[in-house]
Amino acid sequence: MTEAKVTVYGAYWCPDCRRSKKFLGEQFIPYRWVDIEQDKDGEAFVLRKNGGKRIIPTILFEDGSFLVEPSNAELARKLGLTTDARKTYYDLIIVGGGPAGLTAAIYAAREGADTLLIERSGLGGQAGTTVGLDNFPGFPEGISGQEFAERVTRQARRFGVEILQAVDVEKLEMEAGYHEVHTSGGTHYHSKAILIATGASYRRLEVPGEDDYIGAGIHFCATCDGPFYKGSKEIAVVGGGNSAVEEGLHLTNFTDKITLLVRGDKLMASQIAIDKLNELTSRVEVKYGVVVDGFEGSDSKLKTIKYHRTGSDTTEEIHPAAAFIFIGQQPNTVFLQNHVEMDKYGFILTGHDLTHDAHAHQRPLPFEASMPGVFVAGDARHGSTKQVAAAVGEGAAAAISIREFLRRTG
Ligand SMILES: Cc1cc2nc3c(=O)[nH]c(=O)nc-3n(C[C@H](O)[C@H](O)[C@H](O)COP(=O)(O)OP(=O)(O)OC[C@H]3O[C@@H](n4cnc5c(N)ncnc54)[C@H](O)[C@@H]3O)c2cc1C
Repeated sequence: MTEAKVTVYGAYWCPDCRRSKKFLGEQFIPYRWVDIEQDKDGEAFVLRKNGGKRIIPTILFEDGSFLVEPSNAELARKLGLTTDARKTYYDLIIVGGGPAGLTAAIYAAREGADTLLIERSGLGGQAGTTVGLDNFPGFPEGISGQEFAERVTRQARRFGVEILQAVDVEKLEMEAGYHEVHTSGGTHYHSKAILIATGASYRRLEVPGEDDYIGAGIHFCATCDGPFYKGSKEIAVVGGGNSAVEEGLHLTNFTDKITLLVRGDKLMASQIAIDKLNELTSRVEVKYGVVVDGFEGSDSKLKTIKYHRTGSDTTEEIHPAAAFIFIGQQPNTVFLQNHVEMDKYGFILTGHDLTHDAHAHQRPLPFEASMPGVFVAGDARHGSTKQVAAAVGEGAAAAISIREFLRRTG
């Protein structure tokens, strides 16, 4: 395990402590959490640093310096993250530093395009958060998500890609034939072409303990992480829709039993999937009316799921080897609503999906969205297959389309 370089002193109820912890987690900065209500030494430290006042969070850094109630921008500066670009105009701006965005950046910059990549959290995207990638070609023993992210980022930097971190793109506009990108820091950048590689986020339950055990017993992808539980006795699946049932069925390849925790009173999956589930009654238990209250664990590993039944106050618990949560996926495309065509879930339509009458004059290039010069790759794109290898492939292919676009527009 990576050694913590930062210590956050705070309390469980403090919203600013949660914000700072979330920020550090998103930037993949290992940190130690000291709850000053449980830890007398921790409390004494906070009092000493703040002239006898209990001000939290108080955040201590490796070099002995500390910040009190810092904003995210102050934290980013302290951690040495680059949040401002060197110029205001680029050939290509890439929004999102996951596998699709970083791969496109490598391709574009290697061919000489002046490329800026803007990432709001940690580089590597969802892939960077996984314990291990077992199915990415070229790594026969697998590779940790973090190492994968570091390698791809290093490769992108080698070709001169400029990378901003902890910067959120909030708006996209077209101005005099150029795209204008508005960031959370209030800066505007311009470019000829844009690549949207903002991926998608798995919906979370937002209950206590969930953040703490993601990747350590709580997962969102059965194809990706199911094999880690080969030979286990029980896996819990939270959700009652198609993906919960289908991914649950897939998990029966690795465990003796799956327990489905369904909030409603019936499954909302296709009949075929439900029939398959019914064929496995001895290995599948479905609990209806379940409201998950929280996750607990020890030794940094999930041990317990606590829940109650609708209409009851009694807390029940189970102790599976892992919990897989399938309550939907949300593309990170809200900032583009009303700018580009999307499907009903918010995934962006590109290329062939747009070749209907309204776009007959335009003939979008592969991976090009309904707004000329805006391209999309990876999980945010309608029809994408939500895997790292696929996102990498889409990033490369989109960069080749962008090269063609830049050539045509001079
Ligand atoms: C826990 C987990 C385990 C997984 N395991 C595997 C596996 O083993 N094998 C596999 O093939 N796949 C796995 N996947 C799926 C895989 O990680 C994704 O399919 C892949 O990362 C998608 O890449 P992407 O670049 O399209 O998007 P993402 O990886 O989602 O990256 C998008 C990036 O864009 C950033 N962003 C979003 N909006 C903005 C904005 N407005 N401004 C700036 N930045 C923004 C996000 O912070 C993010 O870093 C897993 C996913 C998860 C969550």
